[in-house]
Amino acid sequence: MTTPSAPAHILSASPAWASRIRDVPDFPRPGILFKDIMPLLANAADFAAAVQAMAQPWRDARLDAVMGVEPRGFILGAPLALHLGVGFVPVRKPGKLPGATLRQPYSLEYGADCVEVHADALPPGARVLIVDDVLATGGTLLAALALAQQLQVAVVGAAVLVELTGIPGRERWPANVPLHSTLRY
Ligand code: AMP
Repeated sequence: MTTPSAPAHILSASPAWASRIRDVPDFPRPGILFKDIMPLLANAADFAAAVQAMAQPWRDARLDAVMGVEPRGFILGAPLALHLGVGFVPVRKPGKLPGATLRQPYSLEYGADCVEVHADALPPGARVLIVDDVLATGGTLLAALALAQQLQVAVVGAAVLVELTGIPGRERWPANVPLHSTLRY
């Protein structure tokens, strides 16, 4: 196996495993620099190190659950939940969950989308951490936050592996809810 080259434009000092996040230009559309975490996931030691780094700020947060956003928020959120000793609640695209759901529409750069969660996923007041792989415009994370608010749970914070700076994503996130990114580009 070859070692992937370090991604360009890293703003913060990065751990070694960060070099396994691959830049894919013009995916899924021209002009988008896609942060591909698949090479990271394929390496057990580096995947574990990334999950451990994501978990670090939340060890003493007295969480009850992690809410992970489909699809890559599942891949990172589930091991993160186990690492923190709490359960996992999936935030899904519409029509995927079998039970009664709550639904939160949100707008994309082109068009609109929706996220859903089981209405009985968590008791009101449960302390949750919202997890996704990448923060770009913040629309997805904000939709998950609004869904959590519909569930009447307490959002202790949000965790993303990668924050894309230069896009006003963090600025849209409420200042009183901690948002931690492990890597910033
Ligand atoms: P946003 O709602 O704009 O913050 O976009 C975040 C969501 O879209 C996350 O679920 C990411 O998986 C995905 N995403 C957006 N931009 C990128 C990117 N440049 N590389 C990888 N994933 C991205």
